[in-house]
Amino acid sequence: MNILFATTEAVPFCKTGGLGDVCGALPMALERLGMRPTLILPGFRHTLESGQPIEPTGIRFEVPVGKRTVAGELLRSTLPGSAVPVYLVEQDYYFNRQELYRENDRDYHDNCERFVFFNRAVMEAVTRLDLAPDVLHCHDWPTGLLPAYLKTTPGLPEALQNVGTLFTIHNLAYQGSFWHWDMELTGMGWEHFNWRQMEFYGQLNFMKTALVFADMLSTVSPRYAEEIQSQPMSCGLEGVLSDRSADLFGILNGIDSEQWSPAADAHLAANYSIDNYAEGKRQCKQALQAEMNLPQRAGSPLFASIGRLAEQKGIDLVCDLLPRYARDVDAQWVFLGTGESHYENRLRQLAAEFPERIAVKIGFSNPLAHRIEAGADMFLMPSRYEPCGLNQMYSLAYGAVPIVRETGGLADTITDANPGAISDGTANGFSFADASSYALSSTIDRALRAYVAPGLWEQIVRTGMAQDWTWDASAHKYVELYQRLMSRKR
Ligand code: ADP
Repeated sequence: MNILFATTEAVPFCKTGGLGDVCGALPMALERLGMRPTLILPGFRHTLESGQPIEPTGIRFEVPVGKRTVAGELLRSTLPGSAVPVYLVEQDYYFNRQELYRENDRDYHDNCERFVFFNRAVMEAVTRLDLAPDVLHCHDWPTGLLPAYLKTTPGLPEALQNVGTLFTIHNLAYQGSFWHWDMELTGMGWEHFNWRQMEFYGQLNFMKTALVFADMLSTVSPRYAEEIQSQPMSCGLEGVLSDRSADLFGILNGIDSEQWSPAADAHLAANYSIDNYAEGKRQCKQALQAEMNLPQRAGSPLFASIGRLAEQKGIDLVCDLLPRYARDVDAQWVFLGTGESHYENRLRQLAAEFPERIAVKIGFSNPLAHRIEAGADMFLMPSRYEPCGLNQMYSLAYGAVPIVRETGGLADTITDANPGAISDGTANGFSFADASSYALSSTIDRALRAYVAPGLWEQIVRTGMAQDWTWDASAHKYVELYQRLMSRKR
């Protein structure tokens, strides 16, 4: 089966979040199962400067964007360590920018135009490159027009006529919503601008468009697939999602064990496995404390957090609690993240106020993210919602015990250390239900108590480290979906 991934992110070309991890790793797992995946991505500055070998294809093309035609060029690379082809759509004006989607807390004003162009370019690439996909697998709103173009464009080239579309929702809250006049840019007629298709509260909505037009839908955990069919997780799209519930599947993301394995991780001060994790983590913790300018105290529990600094992630709940813990509790806190500037500033202030207890790095650093997972005792993810979440799975593999809110993929992967789960040996972390500082702090307190109960802590760490969250099981489930899609098309 030829599977064409249309996506904006894929590791190691570019990544702002889980989407990049998934689109870098899933195609490799599919290739191992005998599929023939191909990727197509925008040639963002980050992507072209990723250090991966990239060569020209010599193919230049023009596609309509509103009343104009816009030129682009196709470049070629591969996913490292595989034969998976990666095509990049170069368009200097749209994609040669400092960031992918937004700068200084604001979306780029021409995002609609940029991604209309990209969606059109994907269709053009299929014919110009003779790709013959069986399935077009689209990811998140920036590729949301493709399923609609495939269903509504008259006289489609043959290579696109019988292609099944699967649209994966990585985060329903980011919808690609634009003022109604941007319909003109899409080239689709105004007859599609209605509440059953592309219109949502008076605006053009790429996410809704995909949910309506794709042959099949998936999202990145079974729990999130349920949650998004009703308020408040549906972000207003519960109608269309429950209409399509027979075509909506939840498949948990996996982790890329080549990148995320403490036994072979080149970023770490010491490598370790479940058999010698105590000594390995001791060295990694010491090195992390040195790197983050914290006192090297082996016995202080070290909490960590990595990720986008956004309300979704519950970072405000953590900030509310930090002064009290930093004053009263012998523990250390390490943060790595970027995002909304008020959270960045708040964390910087807290680190300045409590330099012995709190260390903050505002920025994006994959090597440091690895070292934090290895050095941390506990990992905080008090997300208000979390479609899948990857960091809790990295944490399990690295022996950093996750403390999570029970939602989406966090609920599907973390079993709270309650008495029942402790006695049956399934506890691998701590979780709580209410999105409140109170619920978070009582869970942190439970974790602190468990941390000083040596047998118990070891049991929780070992349970997590022994679990397998790699891609293999999930990749099989995607293959089943692709097969279903193809049997429908026949
Ligand atoms: P989301 O996609 O909602 O941002 P996920 O947990 O699914 O969250 O995936 C986030 C990915 O991005 C993880 O691999 C995480 O380690 C990584 N990440 C997020 N922020 C940073 C950062 N500042 N530095 C390094 N890696 C980061």
